[in-house]
Amino acid sequence: MEVAAALTDKAHSVSVIGIETVPFKKLFEANRVKFYMLNEVSEMIGHHGQLKEVVLKSGKVLRADVCVVGTGCVPATAFLKQSGIHLDSKGFITVNKMMQTNVDSVFAGGDVVMFPFPQRNNKKVNIPHWQMAHVHGRVAALSMMGKPSEIKTVPYFWSAMYGKTIRYAGFGDGFDDVIIQGDLDELRFVAFYTRSEEVVAVASMNYDPIVSRVAEVLGSGKTIKKRDVETGDISWLIDKGS
Ligand SMILES: Cc1cc2nc3c(=O)[nH]c(=O)nc-3n(C[C@H](O)[C@H](O)[C@H](O)COP(=O)(O)OP(=O)(O)OC[C@H]3O[C@@H](n4cnc5c(N)ncnc54)[C@H](O)[C@@H]3O)c2cc1C
Repeated sequence: MEVAAALTDKAHSVSVIGIETVPFKKLFEANRVKFYMLNEVSEMIGHHGQLKEVVLKSGKVLRADVCVVGTGCVPATAFLKQSGIHLDSKGFITVNKMMQTNVDSVFAGGDVVMFPFPQRNNKKVNIPHWQMAHVHGRVAALSMMGKPSEIKTVPYFWSAMYGKTIRYAGFGDGFDDVIIQGDLDELRFVAFYTRSEEVVAVASMNYDPIVSRVAEVLGSGKTIKKRDVETGDISWLIDKGS
């Protein structure tokens, strides 16, 4: 979506093809981006090494000069299979809270690891964020120097498209409800992801600095209750957690 947004004022036309629906369709369509959702690419046709057409499963043919493929990622850890370093069934390297693998003196961090996440009772998770990789590197380096430290951070992710800020903090895996405050039609809102009675993650569009505030509260070890964000008045979040 970021690539599509960045190309809007550079390309003659921009099309997004995806197998799911998409949340910001309205924002993008207002900026001339066309969507072909619940669809997929079945063929790319070129001429003399230059892309000419993209054929969709629906039969639609799009003229195109460039196709950016964003279909997810998998850990490139096959080369470790014979190393003795433990990989899980999906190829992620498993580490302990010091970012140490099962092999003495071998540490790992970043997108390729499953690590114990303190905010989920040390359940092993994979969080592929830039900021998370930094924290892993720091913890691993301190561990190597014999100064054990723990992962103490709140996952945080941000973006901006068409002048609208998008923020996300926390770990929403397993959420069972979403409380929305603000106005979805105006694209100015905050969404609290809750699990049982607790807020586990928050996302916002054009609603700064609420996500940073939530990250600060969660980072200080406090919890935010679902009932506290259901009331509609979230001004209290600026200086309080329970
Ligand atoms: C399109 C895209 C957009 C993203 N946007 C954001 C964002 O907005 N915010 C955010 O927080 N995160 C974002 N991310 C995620 C972020 O880039 C990653 O979380 C972060 O880069 C992870 O750092 P890393 O060091 O673990 O891995 P990487 O940055 O992927 O670095 C791994 C390096 O290892 C090298 N490598 C792989 N195999 C071998 C090998 N066998 N031998 C030697 N070298 C090898 C690779 O070439 C690469 O340079 C985005 C990712 C993608 C793909």
